[in-house]
Amino acid sequence: MAKKKTIRTIPQERTAMPVQDAAARARNFGEVALGYSEAAALIESERCLLCAEPACVKACPVGIDIPGFIERITQRNYRAAYDVITGANLLPAICGRVCPQETQCEGVCPVGETLEPVAIGRLERWVGDQAIANRWSTLPYIEPAGRRVAIVGSGPSGMACAADLAKAGCEVTIYEALHKPGGVLRYGIPEFRLPDAVLDGEYENLARLGVRVECNTLVGRLFTVGQMLDEMGYDGVFIGTGAGSPKFAGIPGESLNGVLSANELLTRCNLMRAREFPAQDTPLPIGRRVAVIGAGNTAMDAMRVCLRLGAEQVHCVYRRSRTECPARLEELEHAEQEGIEFHWLIAPEEILDDGKGGVRGMRCARMQLGPPDDSGRARPVVVPGSDFEFEADTVVYAIGTNPNPILGQTSRLKLDARGYIEVDESLATSMAGVYAGGDIVTGAATVIEAMGAGRKAARSLTAYLGIRDSGRLYANRTEGDSLFGIAAAERNFVRIRAAVPEGAARAR
Ligand code: FAD
Repeated sequence: MAKKKTIRTIPQERTAMPVQDAAARARNFGEVALGYSEAAALIESERCLLCAEPACVKACPVGIDIPGFIERITQRNYRAAYDVITGANLLPAICGRVCPQETQCEGVCPVGETLEPVAIGRLERWVGDQAIANRWSTLPYIEPAGRRVAIVGSGPSGMACAADLAKAGCEVTIYEALHKPGGVLRYGIPEFRLPDAVLDGEYENLARLGVRVECNTLVGRLFTVGQMLDEMGYDGVFIGTGAGSPKFAGIPGESLNGVLSANELLTRCNLMRAREFPAQDTPLPIGRRVAVIGAGNTAMDAMRVCLRLGAEQVHCVYRRSRTECPARLEELEHAEQEGIEFHWLIAPEEILDDGKGGVRGMRCARMQLGPPDDSGRARPVVVPGSDFEFEADTVVYAIGTNPNPILGQTSRLKLDARGYIEVDESLATSMAGVYAGGDIVTGAATVIEAMGAGRKAARSLTAYLGIRDSGRLYANRTEGDSLFGIAAAERNFVRIRAAVPEGAARAR
């Protein structure tokens, strides 16, 4: 019998992630973190104590069996490790790259009380990358449930919901406003953090489940949510439209040329491929000295994109201190290594005109930290008489986002005061048969939280539509050949049974 691992017997050092050299990567769009080798993954997997009551699983918004997949890596059964993960999370290569593991699974890892925590995210990414490279997926047989569901938005919440509903036998169509699916994963997070090939690799599995994606379809303009239910034959709808409308501070000078939102900058660079200009016909004129306002993940991405697009200097202007910086620590450190200059405890009060309609800089005030505000973070307070001019020819706003408003304006959905969709515990909205989740409900959050909401809504929708799991096949489940946790051995069995939809007759 294998000897029980203890904190003393495991490899003491966390296995380092190889990265591109900082000076070189600051000028190219190649991936920064290069990923583990098999040898590195095996060493790191040995650091997991395989806790009997794993706190990491509880801290994961989708409840991945983390010790389960790591144990299979130690056994060199990588395919089985993938199956364990995809039982709960369809996007391991994506989530391994972008999840804030330090505040979720790794934040509660007991190894972290003495040493550095197990690098769960890096291992998850490694397994996900193996799956893409080896095309580990098998077409399952799914008994049709005779129900049609529409999903609005192809971000992580929409796709997680779509996948679970497809597995439950529904005919699922995703409607996406942009010309490519993925939501923020596609238009927001840059190639150097999340390559398109990884996104495409994991999203391809959706098509294999039979999910259809209709791009270039702005719901609320082409047709409404009410029409989907009443005229287009859908039995249920999930809304995962995110919170992609930019927010500005409302200070003078915001309409000058050279002021833009981080979302516009990132969309032009990533989705519209301005990074390949002039080969791609999307100009994105970035000045010599860029100031980005804000210090979250979006700000980090915007700053690092500006550097790669050729800006000579990129500055971060943030009204709190480094301690309150909301970005992932790894992203902040990578930005610092690449030469971004950080200016803490500074807030812009006006954007200054260069006399030709462009930007010459910002009038800023120095701040100090006061008692905590509603968010629990120290409140920034202006230091009287501390105004000064900050030179910049481009100003990028990354201070948060608002919900996309179109669905709220064109339906009977009940919204809260800020325009987010109101839902109950089951993620049901005020319209019967319509569920919502992700950023459009919570405000800006994380990829994995959005996926968790999509999965929860799928469970609620399946119950609403009266689809019941036969249950009897899970007993036969074998590890190995599967897609998204559905074992190939389950093929040709009636896995899902459709029952009379109790809720479907409810008034719309
Ligand atoms: P989204 O991903 O926003 O997707 C919504 C989709 O709905 C979009 O494709 C949109 O075009 C579409 N849509 C909107 N309205 C309509 C309509 N009327 N009709 C049809 N389609 C519509 N989280 C992390 O965990 N880690 C990170 O490192 C990280 N980095 C980030 C970097 C940036 C730049 C940004 C902006 C966010 C980042 N986040 C990160 C947050 C994370 O990406 C979001 O929380 C997550 O994508 C929300 O998922 P969602 O499905 O709710 O919405």
